[in-house]
Amino acid sequence: MASKALGEIATALGLGRRTSTGIAYGELDGFPAQLALVQRGRYKYLVAQLRFNAEGRAEDLRQRLDESPALAAAGLKRKLVTSNADSVTVTIPPRIFAGLPRPEVVAARVRAVLDVVKGAVPDDRKVCRECGATGAELAIVRGKVDRVCGGCAERLEQEAREVQSAYAARPLNLPLGLHATTTYGRTEAVSWVLRSNRQVPIQTGSRASVYPASPAGGPKTNKLRPEDAAVRISSRACP
Ligand SMILES: [Zn+2]
Repeated sequence: MASKALGEIATALGLGRRTSTGIAYGELDGFPAQLALVQRGRYKYLVAQLRFNAEGRAEDLRQRLDESPALAAAGLKRKLVTSNADSVTVTIPPRIFAGLPRPEVVAARVRAVLDVVKGAVPDDRKVCRECGATGAELAIVRGKVDRVCGGCAERLEQEAREVQSAYAARPLNLPLGLHATTTYGRTEAVSWVLRSNRQVPIQTGSRASVYPASPAGGPKTNKLRPEDAAVRISSRACP
């Protein structure tokens, strides 16, 4: 039921791509966008994210979100819209006994936020987030939609394979302390790079969300480490 709702909302927004983990994504007026359902307690919330790639826009964006009359007009509470240096996240809670709002209502809310992003980030760069190369394509990287070039996608895949090898080589008796690392907030255990209509897992583990944003726009060095795989084992053992 819930994924049907997500599908209808994705259709209303024109987000045509899907991952095997149920993320819908695509571009909205040139900005990478994704929709996912997140379970909180007994309820599934819809989380919409818009990504951008520009320097120094976080503060202006936050202020514009504060001041936008369009958000309230679309029925969006300000506290349900968060932003940082490269993304805006909109949380749509389900209505009591009625599930998520109608697809067109949700789409209007996401578009209201999109309009603010467009105003605040006129210089969005359509380049690879990892290396800055042009010719980047949309992909879900570490659970978030982004633009990645072919070379970086290949590197991420290779790193994922190394993590998987480390994962396979590890003993199953893991120390209990590892369980603590699963509390880093993350809903997608596996991320995917999509290229050429095939999906390749590029990363496992729950630590990805704590990787810092690229400092001063430089290329990232998000090396995957064997303990990332270990995290995945422990999170499976203790959901
Ligand atoms: Zn690249």
